[in-house]
Formats: sequence, structure tokens, C-alpha cells
Amino acid sequence: MEMYNLFHIAFLSSSFLLCITCLLFTFIQKRTDKKHNRIYIAMVAILLISSLCELSLCFAKLAGLSADTILMIDKVARYVYFLLHSALSALFYNYVTKVCGALFGSNPFSRAMYLIGFVLPEMLILTNPFTYWVYYRDENGAFQRNWAEMLIYVAGAFFIIMSVVKLFRSWDALTDKKRIALIYFLFLVGLGITIQLAHSEIKVEVFSEAMGMVGLMLCVESEDDRIDIDTGFYNRKALRQDIKSFIINKRKLFLIGVRIIDSDIFIRSAGTENADILNETISDYLRTLVPRYHIYYVNQSTYALTVYGDDENMIREFAEKISSRFDETWQFRESQIKLSAVILAAGVPGRISSVNDAFYMLDSSLPETNDKKVLVGSDLEYLLRRSAVEDAVSRGLDEHSFEVYYQPTYRMSDRKLHGAEALIRMHDKELGQISPDEFIPVAEQMGLIDRIDGFVLSEVCRFIKSGIPQQNHMECINVNLSVIECLKPGFAEKINRIVENAGIDKKFLNFEITESVAATDYDVLSEIVTALKNEGFLFSMDDYGTGYSNIAAILSLNLDVIKIDKSLLRVAQTSEYGYIMLENSIRMFKQMNRQILVEGVETDEQVELLCGFDVDYLQGYYFSKPLSESSFTEFISRSEK
Ligand code: C2E
Ligand code: CA
Ligand code: CA
Repeated sequence: MEMYNLFHIAFLSSSFLLCITCLLFTFIQKRTDKKHNRIYIAMVAILLISSLCELSLCFAKLAGLSADTILMIDKVARYVYFLLHSALSALFYNYVTKVCGALFGSNPFSRAMYLIGFVLPEMLILTNPFTYWVYYRDENGAFQRNWAEMLIYVAGAFFIIMSVVKLFRSWDALTDKKRIALIYFLFLVGLGITIQLAHSEIKVEVFSEAMGMVGLMLCVESEDDRIDIDTGFYNRKALRQDIKSFIINKRKLFLIGVRIIDSDIFIRSAGTENADILNETISDYLRTLVPRYHIYYVNQSTYALTVYGDDENMIREFAEKISSRFDETWQFRESQIKLSAVILAAGVPGRISSVNDAFYMLDSSLPETNDKKVLVGSDLEYLLRRSAVEDAVSRGLDEHSFEVYYQPTYRMSDRKLHGAEALIRMHDKELGQISPDEFIPVAEQMGLIDRIDGFVLSEVCRFIKSGIPQQNHMECINVNLSVIECLKPGFAEKINRIVENAGIDKKFLNFEITESVAATDYDVLSEIVTALKNEGFLFSMDDYGTGYSNIAAILSLNLDVIKIDKSLLRVAQTSEYGYIMLENSIRMFKQMNRQILVEGVETDEQVELLCGFDVDYLQGYYFSKPLSESSFTEFISRSEK
């Protein structure tokens, strides 16, 4: 008997220490605010008190207290133990539900079952001192189970079965780690109960449950891999898991994206280390709107929030509230700074029916034409169009949706044909004609632009090889290059290879580049341009005057031709300053020994206006729109006659 007692003390004090450990680390890591955190704490606390109850009895026996005192302690300890411990399985079911991300008691039936299964046993135990339905002591003072105890066991078993069912129903919503921890917990509980039922003198039930709690702490409660270290918010991985579980559990909510538009400008001017301070400032604000575990740090400029509900008006108001905060300034160190943001909000399920949809909304660039600060409902239609364009671009090369058109360029001096610009056209079987202004940026982001530009170059080479351009006294054909591609290693070699395989004269090709904001790396770009120019290719600066091209770039890149954008021509017609700007731009470039081409010439007046300047070439609808290869061939041979 004595030995059994020591044996119990060892098991029970281990359980006690395990519970203390679980609680300690839960509180240290501040995992106390989510609902399942709280249920977890409650379950561990119950085990802690349960082990204390049993321990007190063991110690009373060990201390050799009087039989009456031991009986008293036994009565109280058993009562408390029963009362608390029988709540455990119901709590565990609730816990599993929360961990799976499901709404607890979403239908009246399961709510009623929960209440009956939970409240009834508790009531029975609570009233046991008067009814003795659960247990009683016989005339010798020995402990005896009564009929209601069976009922309590049934209720416990019911919740365990419900938990298993829930677990398997939400299987896909859980990570491997969580699945293992939950199953292991159930296994340990089962093992503990079985041993204790078979040998009631071996009290391992509490111990096995406490062990299971350690597993839950490590793999379910721990969120280390879900948290972004810098912001303390959930990371992309967490968002992916949560959206998946929301969808599987059919939860209705809104996903809100807070996109800081000018964050890169801020980071560039203030440095990356200050970006963290800014992050904190915004984080603090977002935390005032929703609990921390509803906030995710998606990428450098985007946060996501989740808000339960399905009322679009409510969410629009909420989004507008966030947006209006960005009308005010933010405290940054000692100064106030202004940031602009666009708020996107979409329903799950609804516009967002998969994890991919969610990231698509959060990561996709905004349409260039967008001027709204809050995008909800139909404002997000552009995402559908964009994803349709993405599909079209990815199947485009295989399905031969692309075709190269040519727009002639003319010499100013004799108005004779000088060359042509190759312009890509796309005809998709589903979306019809898609403008390059729409699909080129998409192709760039998808990393498919190199293949498209490669296709255009091969087509142009084939056309030059046919000899038709030479027969019509053309001097060159212009091919647009994407600057992002130029910067990739091996670009110059690739171009050379294509042209050399085609066996055409390199000086027949004139590459157009636009110095976009992305290309700040002039040194690399300049190296590539120089390498290709040394091979004999010509280069043009496209779109001068649109804000994407600057004089420093033109100087450092040593380009042959400057193409002046149509917008500069338009302002020269309508304003005096515009005229001065055009006149002096042309004079400046001529002094730098560059040739000038003016684009987008449409009318007689424009040609006349340009006659007064030292322009070399003209291009535009005035002469011809871009034409398919056959129409272009026909067009140039007709004008030759
Ligand atoms: P871009 O290189 O500036 O091409 C000139 C654009 O102006 C073409 O539009 C052309 O059709 C249009 N245009 C020509 N003359 C006139 C005119 O008189 N008036 C007006 N209003 N417009 C005129 P498009 O073909 O829609 O191409 C749009 C842009 O797409 C191009 O602008 C270029 O940046 C890009 N792009 C086109 N083809 C390719 C390509 O093969 N590769 C790459 N990377 N980009 C391309
Ligand atoms: Ca161009
Ligand atoms: Ca242009």
C-alpha cells in the first residue's frame, strides 16, 4: 500500500510539473489572447488542480493523518477532481473545433448536444453530495460508483468521438504538426483511461493527459513559424493556412489588403532600418482595429486583415475608415510623414474562393488607371480580367496568339520610307484582341517577356532574311526590348545567337529601350548596350518625354536615335511652353549628335510644325497604322511604285 502511494506521488507530481511547465511557457510567449489559447490554459489548469487534488490525498496518507482527516480530504479532493476533470473532454472538443478554424456550435443541434453533454454531468456531480447518484460511500466509508458515473463516461466518450470526427473533417485545414499533436493527445488520453480502467490503482490518467498537453503546447499553441519576426504579425504562411481553413470550414469573412503605395519611396529615402519603425507605427494602428491574430504581414508594402461577416456595406465602411486614417500624417521619429494607401476588400468565400485568389489580390499590382483609395466588390473586377490575361499570355506562345505588325518610319528630308517598328499583336481565342499595353506588363511580371521578345526578334529576322525590306530600301527595323530582360545575365549572347542563326546584317536591327523606373542600374544596362552596339546593332531611346526617360540615361547609354513621344508633340501644338520644350529638346539632342524620330504623327499640321525643327524621322498614323507583315509588304511595295 505504502509503495503504491509513493508510486502515485511520483506520477502525480510529474503531472503537476508538466502542467506548470506548459502554463509557464504559454504565458512567457504571450499565447493567451486567442480563444483556443484560453481553452488550452483552462485545460492545463484543470489538470493542474486534478493532480493537486490527488496529490493532497497521497500526502495525507504519507503523513499518517488520522482516518477522519484523510476521509475529509478524500471527500473534498474527489469532489473537486470529478467536477473539473469531467469538463475536460467537452473543453477538448471545443479546443479542436477552434484549432481547426471552425465556428463552434454553428448549428443549434450541435450547440444543444454540447450543452447537454457538458451541463448535465456537471449538474450531476455538483448535486452529488445530496443525491449520491454519481458516487457514494458505503457503511465502511469505502468509495462506490453509482449509475450516473456511467452517464458521465458516456458524455466524455461522446466528446472524444466528436473531436475525432471534427479532426478528420477538417483534416486538410490542419498542418502536419497540428494533426500529429492532436492525434497523439487523443492516443495518450485513450491509453491513460484504458490503463486506469483496467488497474484503478495505477493513476496514470492525469499524467498521460499532461504529457499530451506538452505536445499541444509545442505543436499547436506554438506559433513561431507563423510569425514574422520583424513585425510580430502573422506571415504569409500563416495567411495561407488560415485562408485554407476558413474555406474548408465555410467561414464567412472579408480579407482586407492594406497596400502602402509609396513605401518604396519611403524606404529609399529613409533606409531599411527605418522601414521597421514605420512598420511598427502602422502595426500599432492596425492593432487598434482588430486583434493581433487577425493581422498578417504579406509583403513589404501590404498588410492583410481578416474580419468576420458577409455584409459588404459594413466592410466598405471599415475599409473607408482605414483609408481616411491615411489622409492624416504618421508620427515618424520627430517628424510627421504622409503615406498613401489603397485598401482592397474581398469576401471569402465569394471573390476569394481559394488561397491563390487571396494572394492574387494581395500581391497583384494595381491597374495603372486606378485612382480609387478603396476597392471593394466590383472595383476588383480588374483582378478577374488580369488573371484571364495571364492565362491568355501563358497559352499564347503555344497557341500562336502572337503576331508581329510593322509600322513604317519615314525620313523627314525626302519623306521616303526609312524603316519600320515591329509591334506585337495578340489575338486570344477567348479574350479576342488584347492591347500590348495590357499584356506586356503582365508578361513582364510572369517572367514570360523574354520569350515574347525572342519571338518578335525571330520573326523580324525572318522578315529581313526574306529580302523584302532591302528591296524597298529600308535601312532598319526597330524591335522593342524590355529593360528588365536586358539586365538579365546572358542577354547580349542570346540576342547575338538569334541574329547570327538567322544570318542577317546586324546593323539592320535597331533596339528600342525605355528607361523605366525599375532600371536604376545604368552601369549594367550601359555595359549591355555597349556590347551590343559593338556587335553592330543600333539603339534607340523610346518614349522620350513621358517621364520614363531622362537625359542622364540618354547620355550614359550612348544611343543612336531618340524617339520623341507623341505627348510632347501634342503639348507643343497646344501650349507655348510645350513648343519651347520640343524645340529645345530636339536642339539639345542634335548637339549631342543623336538622331531624332518623332512618334505619333497624325496630321498635316503636325508634319508642318516639325518641318521647322531638325528632325530626322517620322512615324505615325499620318503615314500608316501598324500593319500585318503581308499588308505591310503590300503597302511598301505599292508606295515604291
Ligand atoms: P511604343 O513602343 O511606344 O509603340 C508605339 C505605340 O504607339 C504603338 O502602340 C503604336 O501602335 C502607337 N502609335 C503609332 N502611331 C501612332 C499615332 O499616330 N497615334 C497614336 N495615338 N498612336 C500611335 P501599340 O502597338 O499598342 O504598343 C504599345 C506599347 O507596347 C509599345 O509602345 C511598346 O512599349 C509595347 N510593345 C509593343 N510591341 C512590343 C514588343 O514586341 N516587345 C515589347 N517589349 N514591348 C512591345
Ligand atoms: Ca517602341
Ligand atoms: Ca514609343
